[in-house]
Amino acid sequence: MIRIVILTLFLFLGSCSAVQKQMVNLSHSPYSWQIVDSPEAPTPIRVSQAITIFYRQWEKTFGDKEGRIKKNLDQLMIEWSSEEKAHETVVRNKKGQIVITRKIVKGATLCPTYVWLKTNQYKRVFASSLVHELVHVALWTQVCRGGDPDHEQGYPPCWTTQHNKFIRHVNKILLQLDI
Ligand SMILES: [Zn+2]
Repeated sequence: MIRIVILTLFLFLGSCSAVQKQMVNLSHSPYSWQIVDSPEAPTPIRVSQAITIFYRQWEKTFGDKEGRIKKNLDQLMIEWSSEEKAHETVVRNKKGQIVITRKIVKGATLCPTYVWLKTNQYKRVFASSLVHELVHVALWTQVCRGGDPDHEQGYPPCWTTQHNKFIRHVNKILLQLDI
């Protein structure tokens, strides 16, 4: 039998807009939840199945010593948002001037147990950045501080082409299963 929802909490967050947010348990663990602010987020069943598939594939491909990644996935909080999020980077150029770059992001891993994601009309995990963010979670848990936010650039190299291949592989499985 499929366990749908253990507990549903209604939260009113945000002092200005008072958007109604709902916190729903993810059935793979009693300590894993998702927060939604619109019906556009994938269902908790799909998200839970996606996390389970991700973990099985990760363990098979990269391993999980002492089950630390599993532990974080079992305590994961995923926030789905219909509002865009911007990421700003501040760097100094060769002339010594400060350059601020503002980029709209589809997902962000804020810590190894908190992932933020932008919703879209498809309501499916494979159409979102969840698998990409879970790679950040896994890398952050294992060795890379911050989950290697610059991906394949920078040093030390954590995120490799193998991880990009892995994301495509997992999303393909999710697509086939309509998750
Ligand atoms: Zn990333």
